[in-house]
Amino acid sequence: MYGYGWGFDPTFILLIPALIFAAYAQNKINSTFNKYLRVRNSYGYTGFQVARTILDNHGLQNVSIELVRGHLTDHYDPRNRVLRLSNEVYNGNSLASVGVAAHECGHAVQHQEAYAPLTIRNAIAPIASFGSQGAWLLVIAGLFFGWMQLIDLGILFFGAAVVFQIITLPVEYNASRRAIAVLTEYNLVPANEVEPARKVLSAAALTYVAATVTAVLQLARLLLLRGRRD
Ligand SMILES: [Zn+2]
Repeated sequence: MYGYGWGFDPTFILLIPALIFAAYAQNKINSTFNKYLRVRNSYGYTGFQVARTILDNHGLQNVSIELVRGHLTDHYDPRNRVLRLSNEVYNGNSLASVGVAAHECGHAVQHQEAYAPLTIRNAIAPIASFGSQGAWLLVIAGLFFGWMQLIDLGILFFGAAVVFQIITLPVEYNASRRAIAVLTEYNLVPANEVEPARKVLSAAALTYVAATVTAVLQLARLLLLRGRRD
């Protein structure tokens, strides 16, 4: 810890562009989602109806759809094979609702098809989840005790978290691509309403890009901190 206090860490500067980008992405998804949450789709289908249709058409009658509390909390749970949709999506008949519902179905279909990036992502999820939290503890402890191996172990775990973030990108973009394709194919929204649904999904994907950029820069910080110990 010589010459390096607990106070200002100059490598933090690296993170500033990522934090700005993350704030922009968060603002973009909120504004885009809220905008199209107010635009009813012409067919009037709810997110639930759209999701049920897509799942059934893929032979996924065994995937149930549940209501989940919160805002933008929609997700597919591969362990229990359940699609959980927030009230705005489940009961909503807006373009945002059907877009998000179709996207989450995309994850269920990826799971069914054992889509490789999703399989890899699920496999490294436990290590990555530990890595994103525990890595800093290991690095700080390593710096404190001057124990290099501990720092390296922390960096390795954080690396797993970064790989997880990176592999999330194809998973998310692919689910959105599938969503747009089926909305058109099953005629769940008129052709001229596909574009707004796509905008909502693109805005959502941007938050994953921001999270990835942040994770990569965090890894760079850890490597810089390690470099100082040599
Ligand atoms: Zn997704």
